[in-house]
Amino acid sequence: MTSKRLAFDMDRVIVDTYSGQKTWLADNYPEFMDQANGRYFREFLPESIFAELWDMLLEGHFFSTLEPMPGAVSTLEKLTKNYELLIVTAGTMFPNSCAPKIEWVKTHLPFFNHENVVLCSNKSLILADYLIDDQYKHLEHFTGKGILFSSSPTQAPVNCPIVKSWRDIDSFDF
Ligand SMILES: [Mg+2]
Repeated sequence: MTSKRLAFDMDRVIVDTYSGQKTWLADNYPEFMDQANGRYFREFLPESIFAELWDMLLEGHFFSTLEPMPGAVSTLEKLTKNYELLIVTAGTMFPNSCAPKIEWVKTHLPFFNHENVVLCSNKSLILADYLIDDQYKHLEHFTGKGILFSSSPTQAPVNCPIVKSWRDIDSFDF
């Protein structure tokens, strides 16, 4: 029997991208910090400031500086024993992030087969049994089963299970 294939998004699922972006905001525009309570930055930053943040993401180095989400490393290591794992991350949207992201995986997830990192923004192309992602738009057209990773209340109803943390993933019945 072949093992199930689980695909994980990287930013805001495996990697604590949000904390990294909040550090950037605190350093540059601390007056907006009180609005960064889990909301996506594009939802509350003025367009010109969001453009600066976007430029920082496009430069790429930022992605090598981030910490793992709590529990991500140990749970992924455990799942590796029973499932085929993929990491699917929007590298094509941020071309300069590709090398930093692969390095991040090698550094923080030494047990993970880095050849299973898929740098692709169109996640409907991915063939897997499950996709765990923090953005519902990536799950809507995914051909397997989607799981939304979200610790904040979802704004619109979603047609899939929701997990709030890696503890929830650890106990999920795949
Ligand atoms: Mg994400």
